[in-house]
Amino acid sequence: MLTRRALIAAPLAARSIRASDARRLHAGAATANVTPALGASLAGGMTNNVAKDVHDELHAKALVLDNGTARVAIILVDSCAIPREIIDSAKARIAAETQIPASHTLVAATHSHSAPAATHLFQSKPDPKYIDFLTHRIADSARLAIARLRPAQIGWGVGHEPRALFNRRWHTKPGYVNDDPFGKGTDTARMNPGYGNPNVIKPAGPIDPDLGLLVVQGTDGRPIALMGNYALHYVGGVGGGTISADYFPVWGQTLLRVAGVSAHGVVTMMSNACSGNINGVDYSKPPEKQPPYGQIERTCALLAPECLRVWRGIQLQDWVELAGSIEDLDLGVRLPSAADVEQAKKWLDEAPGKERAADHYTNRRHIYARETVILGREYPKTKKVAVQGLRIGALGIPTFPGEAFTELGLAVKKEKVFPTVMPVELANSYNGYIPTVEGHQQGGYETWRAKSSYLEVEAAPKLVAAALRRLRAIA
Ligand SMILES: [Zn+2]
Repeated sequence: MLTRRALIAAPLAARSIRASDARRLHAGAATANVTPALGASLAGGMTNNVAKDVHDELHAKALVLDNGTARVAIILVDSCAIPREIIDSAKARIAAETQIPASHTLVAATHSHSAPAATHLFQSKPDPKYIDFLTHRIADSARLAIARLRPAQIGWGVGHEPRALFNRRWHTKPGYVNDDPFGKGTDTARMNPGYGNPNVIKPAGPIDPDLGLLVVQGTDGRPIALMGNYALHYVGGVGGGTISADYFPVWGQTLLRVAGVSAHGVVTMMSNACSGNINGVDYSKPPEKQPPYGQIERTCALLAPECLRVWRGIQLQDWVELAGSIEDLDLGVRLPSAADVEQAKKWLDEAPGKERAADHYTNRRHIYARETVILGREYPKTKKVAVQGLRIGALGIPTFPGEAFTELGLAVKKEKVFPTVMPVELANSYNGYIPTVEGHQQGGYETWRAKSSYLEVEAAPKLVAAALRRLRAIA
């Protein structure tokens, strides 16, 4: 009798794929709805934004590949950020049910800012019942994809579309004093400086214009899954208090429409590359008024033709190497000093009594003082973060455990460990913003110490080195 334990340990050859198919890739893709009930706290802002409406449903989207000896799973979730505990428990369920080990399973949040909190971010707190539901649905998406495994072909390519991308951090003029919530006045860069700001010089960093596309299609010629890869934080411009997956699903819908391919049975998923300092707003020009969701439509209309061009040029393969590798990296935490915590408590004492009673603040100084107190009270000196590499043939996928500055993706690509590299951020952990060392020196929102920015100043080079190590381990 095969015990459960034996099933998990059984070689993959014991699966239902026939021996004659040994050098044939199999693929399956599926979605699982992860929309919360109304009333959920939406992440992505500094205050508690409660869901009153749903514009479009949220999903966990899974792609599973099986080459006869190894399997990999990529699961992208319409969420702002998913912490390690949730991803680890979803991966444990997946490993128990499907034989795919955690090292070969990539789970990442897309970074919709109109999705519920899966971790305590600023003043948005997740509902424990939603966390449980989300964990099960992430695992379900992989199980459903495995149930749909069928003979497939795969290919990928990278296009170029810089027009939807802007580095949102700008250098400010020498002598100009930027305000910050800690009263330091030392920042020399400013996020989202506003249109026509006379105090800014130029963007403080690059963009990464690569537009990646992975195509998986059945032997009937119909696509099974399309996965994009693009370094755009999110688009936004959605209705207030409204649940939406942002531009990520609209990208796939628009691409299929432009390609004249029926969406029936096709899973489209957009992975977020390193884009912590990138958005779609051009502050060098006057603003253009857009209706809600207008900017999302416009962005996707811009990306679709280039994706279609890449798609038409892709050479499909019947079989590819598949591998995965993951490591834990111990990174320091920028903990507040005792004096920082004392000062923060004083500021909180000055907040309106109603806000103190509700532990919900509206003034930025108070919001960050609350962050300082929480970090001082709850955060350890170091955090173990996960860094992963996946291999799909000659395509390498390195991951970053947070909102990585676009420079990190560029740094990994430059080493050319694989001919094609598609980085995925907010993967396997959520450890806040990952600015470059230079970005930390410049200061600005992404570096302000909070639950959404706490890793050590040297985190970026250490994470780039770890991502390269994971890719080299499977190259
Ligand atoms: Zn963000």
